[in-house]
Amino acid sequence: RARWRRVVALLREFEDGCATPTPRLRQVVDAMVVEMHAGLASDGGSKLKMLLTFVDALPAGNEQGTYYSIDLGGTNFRVLRVEVGAGSVVTSRKVEVTIPEELTKGTIEELFNFVAMTLKEFVETEDGKDEQRALGFTFSFPVRQTSVSSGSLIRWTKGFFIEDAVGKDVAQCLNEALARSGLNVRVTALVNDTVGTLALGHYYDEDTVAAVIIGAGTNACYIERTDAIIKCQGLLTNSGGMVVNMEWGNFWSSHLPRTPYDISLDDETQNRNEQGFEKMISGIYLGEIARLVLHRMALESDVFGDAAYNLSTPFTLSTPLLAAIRKDDSPDLSEVRRILQEHLKIPDTPLKTRRLVAKVCDIVTQRAARLAAAGIVGILKKLGRDGSGVASSGRTRGQLRRTVVAIEGGLYEGYPVFREYLDEALVEILGEEVAQTVALRVTEDGSGAGAALLAAVHSSNR
Ligand code: ADP
Ligand code: MG
Repeated sequence: RARWRRVVALLREFEDGCATPTPRLRQVVDAMVVEMHAGLASDGGSKLKMLLTFVDALPAGNEQGTYYSIDLGGTNFRVLRVEVGAGSVVTSRKVEVTIPEELTKGTIEELFNFVAMTLKEFVETEDGKDEQRALGFTFSFPVRQTSVSSGSLIRWTKGFFIEDAVGKDVAQCLNEALARSGLNVRVTALVNDTVGTLALGHYYDEDTVAAVIIGAGTNACYIERTDAIIKCQGLLTNSGGMVVNMEWGNFWSSHLPRTPYDISLDDETQNRNEQGFEKMISGIYLGEIARLVLHRMALESDVFGDAAYNLSTPFTLSTPLLAAIRKDDSPDLSEVRRILQEHLKIPDTPLKTRRLVAKVCDIVTQRAARLAAAGIVGILKKLGRDGSGVASSGRTRGQLRRTVVAIEGGLYEGYPVFREYLDEALVEILGEEVAQTVALRVTEDGSGAGAALLAAVHSSNR
């Protein structure tokens, strides 16, 4: 029937629009490297902010004590107690709460009071509750750091929108909230989640040179030589290096495969024209891209019957659901049927419609994972670890260094198909031999535990 033909045409169009053949991924890699250079050259030189973190020395292994961390920046908010010592970092207690939606759009005082009260409840059940504690504050939004323990918020991302906080020192705001609630706790490290993840990854494996988050949002950081940070001339550190928070979620390039659905998605968000890379890759957005495609199909055909209207509400298809749809390998796609029925109120779909839905979810997943892979190779290339310099300098392949990238995030950890697509793309871009020297290592709670570790490094009472 003509209606079905229309759906097939829309599917083809979407698939073509999302295509990421290897040459295109290589263009994305090169664009990433160019933007990294531009962002390091001057403030505002690129959409990549390439932010200084003031983390110059990564933990060496001789830190000791009990430290706390707060991990704020996405769907969940976590409080951790971390035991540091004897070559290990162990999370001894952890509380995770969902941030009430209204607090993501209110005032900074309200949000941080909530954070402080949660920490207070956490600490009050412990011995010696009045002793001074050092806190690592993982705050996963772009921050212009002024020291390792202070910095002002540049802007919100990932659906947070608390206007009065922009430009303020978020560590100071949190310290004030902690004081208001009578807690003897002080922020000694203010870190991005990528930086916490890198710190923990590097603690366990010194070949770890970068960290990537693929969760609610996406971002990356890596260790840069200070003399390459042109925009901050005269920057001196003992190590000769500093961790740079790329804020790669805001990366943009004309080589990115953008479809009309991406434009519709952008229009629905509060941070329009920002975080373009993130909006193609991360957990908050993938399900919504698929919903937009299915909605268009529903409007232009009768595949979803009378239930078409049920596809019109933004953000009703979450990324974990998209993953579950893609994961369904039953012959009759019974899980897809269940999800359509229960979550999107679309009953009685024929098998070919369920296949269509699964295909849309697959396309969205594949593009996201492959673009993330290109981003990772971009960092490797900037660091001269993508193998490309080896042949030209006449060195043998045997001298390729092992490189570890610490990685974390609910999307990456919870979605095996995403990981497979990402690995596949890494091999395509790097080639088998070089890809074998690159290890992606998941750090569990790295963003939080790593922040506690950095709090340990930077507190005087260690
Ligand atoms: P954050 O710390 O930024 O809140 P997380 O790392 O906890 O983010 O990841 C949460 C995100 O990961 C959610 O937005 C969700 O979309 C995605 N996610 C969680 N579990 C899964 C899963 N099993 N499959 C796909 N995506 C998932
Ligand atoms: Mg996180």
